[in-house]
Amino acid sequence: MAAPIILRLKGVKKKFGDFTALHGIDLEIEEGEFFTIVGPSGSGKSTIIRLLVGMDDLTEGEISLRGNRIDQVPANLRPTCMVFQSLALFPHRSVGENIEFPLKIRGVAPAQRKERAIELLDLLRLPREFYGKRIQQCSGGEKQRVALARALAFDPEILFFDEPLSALDYRLRKTLEKELKDLHERTGKTFVYITHSLEEAMVMSDRIAIMRAGRFEQIATADEIYARPVSRFVAEFMGEVNLFDVHGTPNGGLVGKGIELHVNGVARDYGLDLGPEARFTMMVRPESLRFLPAGETADIILQGVLTAQYALGSRIQYNVETASGVQITVEKLREDAFGGGIGDAVVLGFDIDSTHLIGGE
Ligand code: ADP
Ligand code: MG
Repeated sequence: MAAPIILRLKGVKKKFGDFTALHGIDLEIEEGEFFTIVGPSGSGKSTIIRLLVGMDDLTEGEISLRGNRIDQVPANLRPTCMVFQSLALFPHRSVGENIEFPLKIRGVAPAQRKERAIELLDLLRLPREFYGKRIQQCSGGEKQRVALARALAFDPEILFFDEPLSALDYRLRKTLEKELKDLHERTGKTFVYITHSLEEAMVMSDRIAIMRAGRFEQIATADEIYARPVSRFVAEFMGEVNLFDVHGTPNGGLVGKGIELHVNGVARDYGLDLGPEARFTMMVRPESLRFLPAGETADIILQGVLTAQYALGSRIQYNVETASGVQITVEKLREDAFGGGIGDAVVLGFDIDSTHLIGGE
């Protein structure tokens, strides 16, 4: 990652009256990056984007684009463009007129405008006949593509997206996630994307920032966030995950709190000091747990009873309750399905290598 920094935020703070929505954000985004900010509702995602495009003023701090301060530059003079959740297209106009709108404002001649609109239709893989089609006659997915084409007609240096897919149905969302990733690759532009769905972020992004109450909790690649979340908050944001409170033992092992979980000596260097006072959260993903047949073993073994199972398409999710009442989630591919049924006693196993320790409880 040696690309130059296109966008830099230094100590960016935003207050609404007494309420601090952003607590001094520092961030560097690289040229051509697909950077996604993920966080629950109210964490400050839209506030950041509004400051970046100039729809709102910051309280403190600096925003620079290629090293030049832009935080005092009016929105219409910033080389950035925003794609909203609500599309803000002109419903009674044609697709072509909508795409050409930014060019018309800039005084580009009609012939050139049309040429560019056709190029953008091609780029978005929309049929050229759509040029004359009314927006009202387009489906939700087509409108989204038109809105993207129009945003690109501005030829912005950075495209900002504030939850553009959240109003669409699941299947269309999945399709457009892949199209956006593909569009990012084809245009080479810098994309800054906001979503409350980490799954959506993971499909598309080079790097992800996890936001919590006006601060970044972790900024890393999707793989890093998935395998090594820095906090319980980040781990839980990713959907199903098993988290156990553990503490160190004098012999360098780990003991679970409220669960029959013992590890004597630790086969892997967690890069943490495992003294008897140490408190951690141990994370293990549902897919890393195995149902152990008699005679098979694993680094960590838990006994329990199967309490529920759910078909998730290609996978099956199981809930297991241990003797001490701890709920555990297991996921298996269909071909590795557990043969038994609800109420069966089961033995679960997982290996130290498939765990991750988070500092603090
Ligand atoms: P997100 O986009 O992550 O859901 P927002 O950035 O919209 O969150 O909002 C972050 C916090 O700032 C919320 O608590 C919200 O109520 C508050 N907020 C946003 N805009 C304003 C405003 N104009 N006046 C007062 N509070 C605001
Ligand atoms: Mg928002």
